[in-house]
Amino acid sequence: MNAIPAAAAAPEIAHWIGGRRVPGASGRLADVYEPSSGRVGARVALASAAEVAQAVGSAQEAFAAWSQVPPLQRARVMFRFRSLLLDNAERVAAQIASEHGKVIADARGELTRGLEVVEFAAGIPQLLKGEYSENVGREVDSYSLRQPLGVVAGVTPFNFPAMVPLWMFPVAIACGNCFVLKPSERDPSTALLLAELLKEAGLPDGVLNVVNGDKEAVDALLDNTSVRAISFVGSTPVARYIYTRACERGKRAQALGGAKNHMVVMPDADLDQAADALLGAGYGSAGERCMAISVVVAVGEKTADALAARLVPRVRELRISHSMDEQADMGPLVTGAHLARVRGYIDSGVAEGARLLVDGRGFSLAGHEQGFFLGGSLFDRVTPAMKIYREEIFGPVLSMVRVADLPAAIELINRHEFGNGCAIFTRDGRSARAFASGIQIGMVGVNVPIPVPMAFHSFGGWKASLFGDHHVHGPEGVRFYTRQKTVTSRWPAPSAGGADFMMPTMK
Ligand code: NAD
Repeated sequence: MNAIPAAAAAPEIAHWIGGRRVPGASGRLADVYEPSSGRVGARVALASAAEVAQAVGSAQEAFAAWSQVPPLQRARVMFRFRSLLLDNAERVAAQIASEHGKVIADARGELTRGLEVVEFAAGIPQLLKGEYSENVGREVDSYSLRQPLGVVAGVTPFNFPAMVPLWMFPVAIACGNCFVLKPSERDPSTALLLAELLKEAGLPDGVLNVVNGDKEAVDALLDNTSVRAISFVGSTPVARYIYTRACERGKRAQALGGAKNHMVVMPDADLDQAADALLGAGYGSAGERCMAISVVVAVGEKTADALAARLVPRVRELRISHSMDEQADMGPLVTGAHLARVRGYIDSGVAEGARLLVDGRGFSLAGHEQGFFLGGSLFDRVTPAMKIYREEIFGPVLSMVRVADLPAAIELINRHEFGNGCAIFTRDGRSARAFASGIQIGMVGVNVPIPVPMAFHSFGGWKASLFGDHHVHGPEGVRFYTRQKTVTSRWPAPSAGGADFMMPTMK
């Protein structure tokens, strides 16, 4: 489990400011691991406040020109970016797999979902169209338009090093903003690759900047008065902090937090389909997805027993391998520290009396003994009071809770702190409708285990899974990255005039 120490020659990961790689100047560096081997593959520069100010300054300087570029031309940059992403898809996917640890097929899928947001952003001329009303008063017309905010920033998590940044900057930039991205320090290289491709697509220097770093860089972004809005995706405590601090400083903010996604299995569901869905949604990407299913809510004892009988052998047989193995179902966890944390949750579940049907703690991959691997684990008879139920584990651990009926399932889920995603598996339309209508969750699946909205809809949870008013990408993304202006105009005849001291009304 202990990582092999950094080789002296581990390359240094820089920042991207003003259209070029800029080496770190703070003297602070963090190790970046290759989870499959446990080796330190690189070291990332951690930006100081001065380096963040340099990146924001570069974005601010680029804004005057970029905001005046016609939306159609901005869209064409996105078209070229899309082509370059497709041409370089294997390179980007390999980069994701190497630092994150997810298997290469899953990394390709992540890129595809990000690329769909680029395709959405390429439709920006249509999305920015305003409204016009003729004769709101006699010979008075009104129109509304949406304008970019200026410099906006994004702070992103480790688990989707391409997709989550792509949720943000293509929409923001297509709207006419300039962007400063602070990716996760655990897998920062993909963001730099995306920035290089966007430059190659014709984006002017300074419109997209990447600063690598930790809390110091994030605080510098939050405190910089030129940063008008901040998008955050990560854990709930940090989301709450970022939202509060950004709002205190008068910034627009959207902060997406953690999750505990439940899947309800009704007695009438096709249990083989439900078990397949649980395997992919619970263990894909080693459970390190904000939309992973981590709790299965079995309705009725018979459903629970039949589901457990199907899940146990399949969880034991999960193909776990290094991230470049095309045949693997899942790879390692992101770091040794995270592996230790997830193992700690399994220990806690056992100590609190849950039944551990499959124990992944003994797993080791031959030839990769130092990699951050954990086998799939399955708990039954989990109760709402247990820590493994209350908290987000973010690993390949699925917990089964048994309830008597659908109202009890809905009540259970609605009482949980988080509200990102959920699903119901049933053949009964009436149950599905009652669930979709009554559940207090932002994204709901009916016989769909991971209901991630497409790029042209918006993504976001409820409760402690999102702080702010706007979801990301889709129409809400365009609204978040623009502000509305309404112009009321009149072209009176030369003789018309006279002061009117009353509140303007339509006469
Ligand atoms: P994290 O909160 O540790 O880090 C996210 C980002 O915040 C990183 O860029 C990190 O450098 C920065 N950061 C960390 N601590 C900070 C602090 N104290 N002050 C300021 N900035 C700080 O999250 P993570 O471990 O990288 O990602 C996993 C989490 O993200 C999970 O909780 C997962 O559910 C969540 N997530 C949520 C969504 C969603 O859509 N709701 C999507 C993906 C991931």
